[in-house]
Amino acid sequence: MKILSGEIVEITSTNILIAFLIIWSIIYIMNTTKKQQLEKKSDNGENETPMGLKIYYGLFGILRTSAGLKIIDKVGKYKFWRKLSLWLIPICMVISILTLYMFITSTINLFSGTVPKETSKPVIFLFGNLIPWIPGIVALIIGITLHELAHGIVARAYNLKIKSTGLLLGLGIPLGAFVELSDEFKETNNKIRGAVASAGPIANVIIFFIAIFAMPFVMNIDSPITISNVLEDYPAQGVLLKGDVIYSINDHKINSLTSFQNAVKDIKPKEKIKITILRNNELKTITTLTTTKEGLIGINAEASASISFILQTLYWTSMLNLMLGFFNLLPALPLDGFYIWNALPELIRDLKKGNKILNKISTITEHLINERSLTSISLMVWGLIFVSMAYSFM
Ligand SMILES: [Zn+2]
Repeated sequence: MKILSGEIVEITSTNILIAFLIIWSIIYIMNTTKKQQLEKKSDNGENETPMGLKIYYGLFGILRTSAGLKIIDKVGKYKFWRKLSLWLIPICMVISILTLYMFITSTINLFSGTVPKETSKPVIFLFGNLIPWIPGIVALIIGITLHELAHGIVARAYNLKIKSTGLLLGLGIPLGAFVELSDEFKETNNKIRGAVASAGPIANVIIFFIAIFAMPFVMNIDSPITISNVLEDYPAQGVLLKGDVIYSINDHKINSLTSFQNAVKDIKPKEKIKITILRNNELKTITTLTTTKEGLIGINAEASASISFILQTLYWTSMLNLMLGFFNLLPALPLDGFYIWNALPELIRDLKKGNKILNKISTITEHLINERSLTSISLMVWGLIFVSMAYSFM
């Protein structure tokens, strides 16, 4: 079954990209001319930016807005975020250790040739190729925005100041939002920094689960199920055609992806199946035998374009959020994982203030996990990432 493709989505993706490029060019020209006018008018040397927009290398933009600050203030005033976020530190620690383990084994597999080089290419190179543009961008916007918002909310709950919020733009396409913490973050204690750091990746993990759980509901929505592809040298070849709408299989009415899945899941090899299709407004019933080995007739089917699009978006939202969350948990500065690991000794010590045993464990932990050892791990992680990426392009 081919639910993760849809030609209609591909075409609109390109069109929308072109539209964004045109809009970006207009914004870019407007921004530069306005800036020149401002520079001519006032010679105070201050780098004033019209529209709150700053453009980097002509490709990327940062648009500062106050909308994010208001949301963070409203949600972050509840102090229960403090307690909750402290609980997130040990959860993140466990995921982080798993991530580090997977990262190291996958790097070993890459260089021993067990996995294809393509797997270590930066995700951005998969866009338009493996990852469809719009669902991929929507997934990134949701992931980056909620990740940053979660950091901001917990920071606010600890009364830390937020310097600014805004949107990240790549060629005019919003790629997500950012929350810039004030210098107070650097000066506060390790435990609070760990709590603030934990909130971001956990937001991504929660989005992963929401997207995964939403998929069956979407698959259950009424939609015509159309044959999108007939495989060569399979029983369906010459009998069923691309574009046929599947009306029923073995007298089970097909009106959604779920009903299609249920109708085909128990079909066995060499089984006689009856398919009723709608072709040129006429119902037609055909009977065919499934293949001897796999029990297939050789068709791919898909739901309507809109349902396919929603499913694609949910699928990539789940996948990219899992990747975002896990990647940020690597204990490498400036990623969140660094602050989470660094919080551990203080977190253990403060479990019960004045407890001698906990104090001892905390001191031992601090010998192993401290800013110095974490900086070494950071160098190792970034070194491996850099070398793997270079190797994937060789
Ligand atoms: Zn983060």
